[in-house]
Parts: sequence; C-alpha cells; structure tokens
Amino acid sequence: MNSKFHIYTDFDGTISVDDVGDKVFENFTDSTWRQVLQEWYDGKIGSKEYYVRCSEIMEMNEQQLNDLCETQKIDEHFKDFESYCQTKNYPLTVLSDGMDYYIKRILFNYNMQHLKVYANKFVFLENNKVETLFPYYERGCLKCANCKGAHIKEHRKDGEIIVYIGDGLSDLCAVPESDIIFATGGLKQHCQEKNIHHFAFNNFDEILEKFKQIEKNYKEGK
Ligand SMILES: [Mg+2]
Ligand SMILES: [Zn+2]
Repeated sequence: MNSKFHIYTDFDGTISVDDVGDKVFENFTDSTWRQVLQEWYDGKIGSKEYYVRCSEIMEMNEQQLNDLCETQKIDEHFKDFESYCQTKNYPLTVLSDGMDYYIKRILFNYNMQHLKVYANKFVFLENNKVETLFPYYERGCLKCANCKGAHIKEHRKDGEIIVYIGDGLSDLCAVPESDIIFATGGLKQHCQEKNIHHFAFNNFDEILEKFKQIEKNYKEGK
C-alpha cells in the first residue's frame, strides 16, 4: 500500500516571498509596531496579544488590503508542488498564525483558492478600523494565536505521515507533531540549534525534489 502523506505548510515567507503579515502592519500601523514585533520575537508576548495590539494602532480598509495583496508574489515553484500533491491525492493544508483574508486573496490570485486554510481573521470595521479574531485560539497552546501543533494533532489520521514546511517562530509548535520537516529561515535555525532532523530548503522546487525521494524511500520501506 502506498504511504499516505499529509502536507502542512506555513504561508508567510514560506509560500509567499515576503512576510505579508509584516507588510500589512508596516503599511497600516504607526512606528510603534516594530516595538510590539520585537516583544513578540523576544517571547515577552504571545501572538494573540501581538495582533490585538497591532490592530489597535492599525488603520486600513478592505480596498487597501486588496491593493497590497496584488503586489505580493508567491514562490514560483509552489504551484508545481501543489499540483504534484493533488495528483498523488495527498492533502495539502495551509496553517498560518497570520490572517486568512490576505492568504485567501493571494491564493485566489494564483488560482489556488481550493486550498484549505486555517488562520486568524481580520474583520473590517467602520472608519478604517480592523478587528482581529482568533477562532482556534482556545484549543491551542495559548502562546500562539492559531497553534499549528494543535491543528495537526486534531486532524491526524492513523498511519498518516505528517510533512511540515515552514520558516519561522510561528512554526515551532508544529515541529513535535510532524514526521518530516522542511525548514528555512528562523525555523531552520531552531532545528539546527535543537538538533532536530530537518531538510533545509530555498524554494519549493527543492522541496518537491527531496519529497519525491522521501516518498520513494517510504515505498521501499527504507
Ligand atoms: Mg512564516
Ligand atoms: Zn502553539
């Protein structure tokens, strides 16, 4: 029997070239945003508090966010990777501690609106104010606004091999729940420091190539 892989991937800085969440706050909040970001990096605040404080200083309407999304690019090899997973019938799920609005919009721009996305939510209010909602917060570790580890645990099926792809701090909870890790950026550094087995990558072309090898090894029982 063929092995069944379930692939989970981060969005910001992994599928998208830039961290779109950072771009949003950089463009639509004031200069105090960077201090809040630093507090999050330093682990002084969790990502829910980070987003709540960012939205308090944010002014943005839907059109402005749409315009920003039009300028955002994704990894040029992601579509091939996505098609490959579809051909093989491997579920590919986007797990993000960012916001679903821009993720879905950008995926739509690249004809991948069918992908399943779990993320936090932006709600547009009057006077360019935005509220952030956290539909998955309670079931997670309470440090992440949307804990990736909790999603993987919740959806894991017997015999499934979990592949995780990510680039940063928001991916850490996914690591102990995954069998195979593809890492770049901050996640790669974390895995190196903690001696966690991972495959480093620069783009989805490299991931696809390596993944095909892994598939073959599983098939041959190596
Ligand atoms: Mg990321
Ligand atoms: Zn977590």
